[in-house]
This record gives sequence, structure tokens and C-alpha cells, in this order.
Amino acid sequence: MNRIIIFTLLGCLLWTGCENAMSSNPSVDTTPQKPKNIILMVGDGMGVSQITAGLYTNNNQLNLERFPYIGLHKSYAYDDLVTDSAAGATAFSCGIKTYNGAIGVDKDTIPVETILERAEKEGLATGLVSTSTITHATPASFICHNKIRKQHEENAADFIKTDIDLFVGGGKNYFDLREDDRNISMELKKKGYNVSDFFQEETNDLVMDPSAPLAFFTANTDPLAAQDGRDYLAGISGKSVAFLAERGKEKGFFLMIEGSQIDWGGHANQSDWIVAEMHDFDKAIGQVLDFAEKDGETLVIVTADHETGGYAINKGSTMDSLETAFTTDYHTADLIPVFAYGPGAEDFSGIYENTAIHAKMMELFGFGAKNESE
Ligand SMILES: [Zn+2]
Repeated sequence: MNRIIIFTLLGCLLWTGCENAMSSNPSVDTTPQKPKNIILMVGDGMGVSQITAGLYTNNNQLNLERFPYIGLHKSYAYDDLVTDSAAGATAFSCGIKTYNGAIGVDKDTIPVETILERAEKEGLATGLVSTSTITHATPASFICHNKIRKQHEENAADFIKTDIDLFVGGGKNYFDLREDDRNISMELKKKGYNVSDFFQEETNDLVMDPSAPLAFFTANTDPLAAQDGRDYLAGISGKSVAFLAERGKEKGFFLMIEGSQIDWGGHANQSDWIVAEMHDFDKAIGQVLDFAEKDGETLVIVTADHETGGYAINKGSTMDSLETAFTTDYHTADLIPVFAYGPGAEDFSGIYENTAIHAKMMELFGFGAKNESE
């Protein structure tokens, strides 16, 4: 009888000890982790049909399938249910619904601090990578403040106002061959930047030296389409995360990577263009995920600003041969998928406003209060 009581007591003690050990073991800690680094990848114009087309024409597989959390965002702009890339990217960068054409400014044209500018202030390394001109609406909305989009030279001048660590994209002419005769490339060099401009096939030979910030131009104006030979996005994305991980060793980094031309294929109503750009963007996603899996402290978010083309895959399609159609040569108001991987990824499940992507990133970075105008 006594023995049974002793064994029972012993068992209770062991069980309690075990429970205590379990709750202090970080591997079973259920509190959400915060990321050190955030990489936001924007496939411009990438709706569900664009993803579907990319998937089936790529042997029924994409790196997008590696993401454990998926949500949907409401892409509408302040003044129209159908957003453009400027208002769409400003929702991500500033956390506000603004009018179509607005670059980093609110509905009253007042400049709003972007997450990239805030990350700079907080001592993080920052970067922008794009397959359009770097002054185009999506990348520009993270670093520029302009009432009207397509002011490429004005947008270029905004790059010198920040301490961005890395930017890669086309549009060299907007920095060097300007109407105001300023040479922003020279100004960047004076500020301590390495400025490079390998084009086309040489692009992948670039060595990124993390001892200095880098401006890397991939074209004088628009970079080529992927189907015409542009293939730098995956390689540069892989090098960029390594570069920023080194420069952001202490406090982390924020990087936005845009697959710009999925949108252009949609505007042109050319399914082959869309598919080639989807494959190109997905390869870059693979590079980024490989880094994030090893690193363990990086949150990767992949989404789009909007869908382009009202793109559809119709009856009679096979995986090798798609029967496609378009309802418009502009954007549509579709809900847009959001894929997330890494610490904080679970926050991106569900349906929410496009501006919530900004709020979630700010919260996970520990940057506190959202923008007042939200
Ligand atoms: Zn567009």
C-alpha cells in the first residue's frame, strides 16, 4: 500500500518535472517568432490564373507550392476598385489606400514614410530588385514620393535621398541622361556606392561586394522580357539576399523583389509572355526560399499588386498547351493570393486588405505604431 503511494507520488513529481522541462524547451514554445529579415516578393499582375498557367506549363510544379501559409488580399485602391501598380505598391510600402498613380503619397498627395525608409532609420539593410526600370511604380513606391507616376527622372533623384544598400533594375538613363543635367550615378558614387551596369548576358557575372552599397543597372531603359533573353532575376535575387544578410548582419534587412513583367504580358494579352515571366519569377522565389530555409530568421512573402488581363484558361487546354483568353488589356479587381514562409508566416492566412500586409510586416519587425493615416 505504502509502496503504491510512493510510486504515485514519484510519478507525479516526474510528470511535473517533465512538464516544466517541456515548457522551458524552445522547440515546443508556441509564441509566434519574429523575423530578423523580411523579403517581400511582388509578381506584378500575378493573379491566380497567371499562377495556374505558370504551374501547369512547368511540369505541374512551382516553388510557390513550398509555402505553408496562404491568404488573399483585397487589392482595391482609394479611388477605384481596380488598382494600378502605384497605389497597389503604396498600400504595401506605406500601409495606406491611395489614388491610382500615387507613389508613396496619400490621397491628399502628402508623402508617407515607407517601410524601407523606416527600416533604414532603424538600422536595417535595405534593397530593391526589379525586372522593370528601378524607377517604375512598384519599386519606386518603396523609396520615392511623387504625386504622379511615370516621373522617372524625379523618382531617380529620390534614390539619393535615402541610404538604401542595394538596388537592381533598368532605367540607367533616368539617372545619367537627365533633362536637368544632374548625374545621379556620379552622385551615388560620391556617396560611396559601387555603381555597375553590366547588361544582358553579362548580368549574371556580377560580383556583389557587401563592403559598400550597390546600384546595379540592368538596362538603359526597360530590361528585356524573359522570352527575349533576360534571365538575371533568380541569380541576382540569390546574390542580393547574401549581400543584404552580410550588410544587415546586426539588425536584419528588408528586401523587395519584383517580377515586373507578368503585368506587361497581361497588358499585351500575350499568354506566352505571362508564362515565361511566371517561370522566371518562380525561379527567383526558389532562390529566396533556399536562403530562408537555411537562415531560419527570414520571413518571405510573395504576392501581387493586382491581376492583369482578366486572364483565363479555357476548356480544351492541356498542361502543354493552354487555351487562354483575356477580358481586358488593363488590370482587374480580383482578390490576390499571398504566400508566406518563415517566422510570422501564420499571420498571413485569411482574407484582409492589401494595406494589412504593411501592418503585419511593421508589427513583425517590431516597428510599432502604424501610419496615422491608416
Ligand atoms: Zn499594369
